[in-house]
Amino acid sequence: MAANLTEESASCQVGITKSVYKNGHFMNPFKDGQQQSNMLSVFKFMAEKNNSKVPSSQSVLDETLPIVKPDATEISTPPETGIRLTWIGHATVLAQFDGITVLTDPIFTDRCGMMSWQGPKRFRPVPLKVNELPKLDAVVISHSHYDHLSRPTVLELNKKFGKDLHWFVPLKLGEWMKAAGCETVTELDWWEEAHMDSHPGVMFACTPTDHWGMRNPTDRYKVLWGSWVIKGPNHSFYFAGDTAYCRTFKEIGQRYGPFSVAAIPVGATEPRWFMKSMHCNIPEAVQMHQELKAKKSLAIHWGTFNLSYEHYLAPLTEIKENMEKAGLPAEDFLTKKHGEIWHLFADN
Ligand code: ZN
Ligand code: ZN
Repeated sequence: MAANLTEESASCQVGITKSVYKNGHFMNPFKDGQQQSNMLSVFKFMAEKNNSKVPSSQSVLDETLPIVKPDATEISTPPETGIRLTWIGHATVLAQFDGITVLTDPIFTDRCGMMSWQGPKRFRPVPLKVNELPKLDAVVISHSHYDHLSRPTVLELNKKFGKDLHWFVPLKLGEWMKAAGCETVTELDWWEEAHMDSHPGVMFACTPTDHWGMRNPTDRYKVLWGSWVIKGPNHSFYFAGDTAYCRTFKEIGQRYGPFSVAAIPVGATEPRWFMKSMHCNIPEAVQMHQELKAKKSLAIHWGTFNLSYEHYLAPLTEIKENMEKAGLPAEDFLTKKHGEIWHLFADN
């Protein structure tokens, strides 16, 4: 299903029709090349004031970011009607609709780093373990960063579901997935579509984002990054993964919208001079919600790993403020508790 990689030049003026691959690296067409951050800016970032204020007290965390145990019976199968989302934490969402159960960017480990003992530590636990997950049909991966693609979690999922689990990944990530034991893998370029044999009525499309991929100093830009459209006969779900704001969301909305629900990142936003090129902030997330033509949006990529310097509870108030500022109903773009089930558009 992989497209022929071409060496067409990136243009910031026209719609992006496919990824741009040059000399073994994917280019970022929204930045006219590649990400600009360098070691100097990383050091400058590290020296900035950190306003995240994640409390060390578990009781304060339990109060401000409570964990809900999702009802195992309720999530055991896709809903009869409507779309059911369960936020597991960070960018991991269990999405169930139109007869399928899909997991996004699964990470169930304590840290998101190269080694199990290294990297940012989870400050909110997962509401359920891999062995408590319902039968999954598919997993979509947005990119190779450690907070989105966790090898120990991939191994655990493979152990539980084996070849019955269908992995959808952006171009050139398939080799890594196979090496981690994934048997059923579909690699897609931007704007390519695919279906699972088991659920031919549900379409998966990989769509662009303004981001990049990297797992070690030698593989920067070597695999593609992206977002996912999952469209069934009754409902559709958009998973943005991790991205800066760029013009692509308008195009995704025009092509595949309206969406029943979009999962949009709202965290790792400050300081802006450093994060703007890789992560949208909350006003931009609200703009994406509109441009994607999402009926409802779920906030992701926050409240789980401390990756940046904005206050750890900022999404709880700022999404509402920015929705109101944009003249939109605040209840259309929500944060949810870890493990909380959001069942939308059900008949009864
Ligand atoms: Zn990332
Ligand atoms: Zn991320």
